[in-house]
Amino acid sequence: MTRAWAASRTTAGAAARTVPARAGSVFGSRAAAAAFDAACASPLVRGHLRTLARLEAAEAAEVHQWQVSRLARFHRLWGRSVPYYRAHPEYLQACLQGRLDELPVLGKETVRGLAGSFSSPRVPARRVTTGGTGGRPLDLRISYASFFTEWAHIAHVWGRAGVRPTDPKITFRGGSLGAGFAGQPILFQPTYNHFLVSPFHLSDRTFADLLDRLGDFRPVAVWGYPSAVTPFAHWVARTGPHRALSRVRAVLLASEGAFDWQVALFREVFSAPVVRWYGQSEKVVFAGECPCRPGAYHLAPTYGLTEVVDGRIVGTGMTNAAMPLVRYDTEDAGTLLPPGSRGARCVCGSSFPVLTDVRGRWDQSLVYGADDEPISTAALNFHDGAFAVFDRFQFHQERRGEVELRVAAARPPAASDLARARHLLQERVGDRLRVSVAVVPPETLLSVRGKGVTVDQRYRPGPATEMSRNV
Ligand SMILES: [Zn+2]
Repeated sequence: MTRAWAASRTTAGAAARTVPARAGSVFGSRAAAAAFDAACASPLVRGHLRTLARLEAAEAAEVHQWQVSRLARFHRLWGRSVPYYRAHPEYLQACLQGRLDELPVLGKETVRGLAGSFSSPRVPARRVTTGGTGGRPLDLRISYASFFTEWAHIAHVWGRAGVRPTDPKITFRGGSLGAGFAGQPILFQPTYNHFLVSPFHLSDRTFADLLDRLGDFRPVAVWGYPSAVTPFAHWVARTGPHRALSRVRAVLLASEGAFDWQVALFREVFSAPVVRWYGQSEKVVFAGECPCRPGAYHLAPTYGLTEVVDGRIVGTGMTNAAMPLVRYDTEDAGTLLPPGSRGARCVCGSSFPVLTDVRGRWDQSLVYGADDEPISTAALNFHDGAFAVFDRFQFHQERRGEVELRVAAARPPAASDLARARHLLQERVGDRLRVSVAVVPPETLLSVRGKGVTVDQRYRPGPATEMSRNV
């Protein structure tokens, strides 16, 4: 199973432009709205977009030179006040001279253990806690300016598909946009210029209601978690085409990996390209998928310096002054390529280097076999159309050697569909796992923020197996 990536944890949306006739009077949080308005118009965002456009057209050597001097400036300004780098002056030296490969790679455990030592006390920031290795939380500090730089990079990627942040959209995602749903599955948020649909209320009735409420509003993009867009895409395939969706020109996938069959489904149902990007809460690497080469992600040089060390994506961030991480191991895997076949330029015209074969922490989700052996869910290949009949699915494990595939669909799946999925999985895992299949309500397969969760692991294997987790 190839999972491509779209990971962005910032909020996003649009300044109010079009208020549809039936928009109602529900507004999102004023603070989020004001921040977003400011972001769209901010000189910082516009400056970043200009730099990205200029560098993307420049020669690769020039881009590299720009990065080296940017990194030196960034650390001259901010690195000096970070306690960890004061105690280890070789970091500052290396950043000022652009010789990162002499430094050790910084692991997540080190950062977790010494969280405060990586923060600059001079930079105003908000605290963010994110899931780290083995689900253990990692405390991060994110500068307020990062909100703007993040938006600039997202806008750059969306722009490749002709979508501006202020364009009308339908959005399927959870509570990170500054408003609760308060029992209503559909909200119009003028700030973001979108109809926001709760990932916890995806039903035929909600979708019919959504299209009814669109009125004269003509979305140009569908944006959201792949797991939440999937039920809508299935519904559109059954009930469409709908005139209200005729102007959709891109599907923007946020915050989760997407399965290949999901990408194919979205392309077909919405007759539009799928736009994905890769990033992480630690803000060291950002890459947008090439419009001409699916699975190839162009690294944004303005965001950070990216290396691949022993197969792992390692990044040195240049946007989050509150916690500048140097040679940080993202724990994601990938391959780094020059932009074009001869180090020149990609077919899309970009001179930015390319990340391929990106495999993330989500792919490393494990289930445990009859002898406690770890089995990556990546090995349970989902290319087969047998799984496309479900809107969502999740592996649930409570006991050694047993796993339940929990599935949800707007229309109850046929017994033959369930039997087929079970048979395919059982064939793949042989006698290592006993597979069962159960139909469950869709909302039980989501995290508290409404994202899909591929593995709900309740079983803990013995310590010897834990050791082999990172092999
Ligand atoms: Zn390209």
